[in-house]
Amino acid sequence: MADVTLSNLSKSYGDTVALSDVSMTIPDGAFVVLLGPTGAGKTTTLRLVSGLEAPDTGRVAIGGMEATGLTPAQRNVTMVFQQYSLYPHMTVRDNLAFPLRSPILKTPEDEIARRVGAVAEVLRIAHKLDNKATQLSGGEMQRVSIGRALVREPSIHLMDEPLSSLDAKLRADLRIELKRIQAEMGATLLYVTHDQIEAMTMATHVGVLDHGRLVQFGPPREVYESP
Ligand code: ADP
Ligand code: ADP
Repeated sequence: MADVTLSNLSKSYGDTVALSDVSMTIPDGAFVVLLGPTGAGKTTTLRLVSGLEAPDTGRVAIGGMEATGLTPAQRNVTMVFQQYSLYPHMTVRDNLAFPLRSPILKTPEDEIARRVGAVAEVLRIAHKLDNKATQLSGGEMQRVSIGRALVREPSIHLMDEPLSSLDAKLRADLRIELKRIQAEMGATLLYVTHDQIEAMTMATHVGVLDHGRLVQFGPPREVYESP
């Protein structure tokens, strides 16, 4: 179970209040889209859920367990950023396998091959597995960076504007694919964007942040119909 509960989270950087008393109950398998203007606290929310940063006050619980003090790996979360960071000299296959080859995970090679194959299939990059990352288009590179999060089969995916560097057509394609993948894998997803279309088409829940406060949270229809 990977439901996520945020309780009264606050976080400041010096005089800047990034997040102020934010509470949110995210059911297992939800696709939560966080919307809001630049500086509203969206990325900060992801960083607190991931464990990359600690809140000043408040708590994060994952699967009903207190997560304070747990590392990102212990929380079983992965984070995908706007800028893909692939190893250019490696093949797509090795880029996808890389997170599983960590000395900590000790994933057997046959299991790595199985997961890389499955993720490449889902992301429709199976025909590029033996290409170097430098030989890919921007959209393919972003698929590979999403794939590097998927191979770890985390229970929670955190994505920070993963499609914003792509052109409109690719964004539209990947929106549909991400929604399908999330449904197939049954993962809980927290997704940050400025793009209202992404929110409407993908979200089970939309959270609207403004100046560090959660001003709305609910199904997309409710959020958009409210004044
Ligand atoms: P968003 O993702 O919605 O654009 P952020 O969560 O990145 O917003 O930022 C919220 C506020 O916190 C902003 O005012 C931002 O400038 C500030 N902030 C975020 N990270 C830092 C940091 N590491 N140091 C100082 N200020 C930060
Ligand atoms: P994004 O908005 O693309 O998610 P970031 O979260 O990195 O980007 O930054 C959000 C805001 O926080 C930006 O306005 C940035 O200038 C500010 N910020 C991030 N890190 C720092 C920092 N270490 N010191 C001051 N401001 C920061």
